[in-house]
Amino acid sequence: MSKQAVFWIRDDFRIKNNPALSYATNNHECVSAIYIYNNLKFDQKREAQKWWVSKSLTEFGKELQKYNINLEIFNSDEINFFSKIKKEKDLSVYWNKIYEPEELDIDKKIISFFEKEKINFKFFKGNVLNEFNKVNKNDGTPFKVYSPFWRNAERVYLEQVPEKNSIIKKLKKSKNFFNGSINSDKILPKNKWYKKFENYWIPSETQAETNLNQFIKNEIGNYGVDRDFPSKKGTSKLSPFIRNGQISVQNIFEKCSNIKQKNISIKKYINEIGWREFSHSLINNFPQMLKGNLRKEFDRFPWVKNSKFLKAWKRGMTGYPIVDAGMRELYETGWMHNRIRMVVGSFLVKHLRINWQEGEKHFRNCLLDFNAANNVAQWQWVAGCGADAAPYFRIFNPILQGEKFDKDGEYVKKWVPELSKVPKKFIHKPWEMEEKYQEAIKTIIGKDYPMPLVKHEIARQEALAAFQSLKKN
Ligand SMILES: Cc1cc2nc3c(=O)[nH]c(=O)nc-3n(C[C@H](O)[C@H](O)[C@H](O)COP(=O)(O)OP(=O)(O)OC[C@H]3O[C@@H](n4cnc5c(N)ncnc54)[C@H](O)[C@@H]3O)c2cc1C
Repeated sequence: MSKQAVFWIRDDFRIKNNPALSYATNNHECVSAIYIYNNLKFDQKREAQKWWVSKSLTEFGKELQKYNINLEIFNSDEINFFSKIKKEKDLSVYWNKIYEPEELDIDKKIISFFEKEKINFKFFKGNVLNEFNKVNKNDGTPFKVYSPFWRNAERVYLEQVPEKNSIIKKLKKSKNFFNGSINSDKILPKNKWYKKFENYWIPSETQAETNLNQFIKNEIGNYGVDRDFPSKKGTSKLSPFIRNGQISVQNIFEKCSNIKQKNISIKKYINEIGWREFSHSLINNFPQMLKGNLRKEFDRFPWVKNSKFLKAWKRGMTGYPIVDAGMRELYETGWMHNRIRMVVGSFLVKHLRINWQEGEKHFRNCLLDFNAANNVAQWQWVAGCGADAAPYFRIFNPILQGEKFDKDGEYVKKWVPELSKVPKKFIHKPWEMEEKYQEAIKTIIGKDYPMPLVKHEIARQEALAAFQSLKKN
């Protein structure tokens, strides 16, 4: 075997539980970690993630140095980059998989090139509990319903022979293998809007581990209830770390399973990791859903094209406080609470009847935790056109959702400060305040904050009629 190896960083910015990195360091004298920044992928509206990746590279680079591993960053597409590796360089290449059809396609092309050129390589399981093709129904077909999927997936995972704990070895000397490495700052988006993220996130493996430990110590016990209230710290906020592999889902699963005081909340939390597994299984077994509706009858849905409404939704100016708070939280922090993602999603596809793909695109651009599997599967879940989806006719009432999950309006007031003087009674329907009252508190609806774009009851009736029209065709 060659003395030198390349660890190809994909979505796995971590030292712990990183099989490809561990294999490389335990079998070679000298290892370089390379990251290939393919701007074609990021320029397709993944601006927020450019920030996360850039910062992650800086942090991860420092960690790798402790093991005498240099980090080299290249602006290229993956196939182009690897096609220049020559056998004479005597390098072996290792990586962990990403479970997206496009990425698996890239792997295939690279593998075929390496085989042809007789370059040594090996790839490893990525950041999932199970390979998606390991969990199928008895007849060998993939699951389309979450509960039986997860029952099986959990069993398959627990029955697996435990993987050897992959420990990374410190090497004697470091070395760069290639020319033309760029600085991680080059990846940052041009628009400095990302600066705000620095107030909320530290994209590192250490931070991920700290957050998980704190969540297990303080919050997981009440997760089953608190996770629905956006003003509480009720969820783990680990999603951007999981997405970029700063923490592995195996690590999360093991730590949660080892909690001594078992309670239903812990199970509920692990079930969410199950939803992530389900989404990955769906997009790989039904890759057509990355481009359109899984349920084909929705191809005939009479979506409305309304750029004014779409813009108002994106900017958090719909006139429905709970929706606007969510959209502003997203823009400010690169993250949004799950309950509110469902509310804003439902509002876009049902009240405004705008195609879910517009929402998916906006989330892709703004979410630090965007991943194709979760985003597409969840948007289709909200729209009713996906697997095991919420039925289209179940339409969230944004006023009631607000009153139920943000009773005191704490969340709304945090993100929509122009409503800070509105009393509790009206915080989710400020247009119902008497004019005199609006004047007294200097909050004029229609001037300081918009009137609702649509009336809930009318929008609901129109959405139901549109849905009915699918059945007639
Ligand atoms: C319209 C819409 C779009 C979404 N897009 C994404 C996305 O691009 N990326 C993403 O990671 N999640 C997405 N989600 C799922 C969910 O909202 C986030 O995973 C969650 O809010 C992240 O916060 P958390 O880490 O505090 O979650 P926790 O409640 O602490 O859950 C722990 C982990 O479980 C996983 N998880 C939780 N809920 C879900 C879910 N419903 N489906 C799949 N996995 C889940 C995540 O990896 C999460 O980090 C979307 C949901 C909706 C309704």
